[in-house]
Amino acid sequence: MKHITRPLPTITADNEEFWKSTKEHAAKLQRCNVCGRFWYYPGPVCHHCGARDYTWTALSGKGTIYSYSVLERAKGNPYENDVPIAIVLVRLEEGPVIMSNLFDYEAADLAIDSPVRMTYEDVDDRVTLPVFLPARA
Ligand SMILES: [Zn+2]
Repeated sequence: MKHITRPLPTITADNEEFWKSTKEHAAKLQRCNVCGRFWYYPGPVCHHCGARDYTWTALSGKGTIYSYSVLERAKGNPYENDVPIAIVLVRLEEGPVIMSNLFDYEAADLAIDSPVRMTYEDVDDRVTLPVFLPARA
């Protein structure tokens, strides 16, 4: 585990199962038992059909870059020790888009639709962040 100064999530009753699954390095999201779709960010109601009937379901960890930005300068803010850092929106294979970071990438990896795979950044006893690496063929 390492000390990071980036903002960390607030764990609530609605999302604690998600953060428990990332702590176990086996991320899960809620899958609707009515329409069959996944949603993110965790919450009590399906984002697609409004049902409250769901099952926490394991993710494949596969996704593609939906959008990205690279933070180059962060003097005086919590990212100061992490720049440059790639901030990505990843479209998970299961459908939802999740904001995270891409690590260990080369310039060519940082492109719309590039394949990525989820890995985990253990932060402290409470939080393990889902982050991404390039998934080169
Ligand atoms: Zn639904």
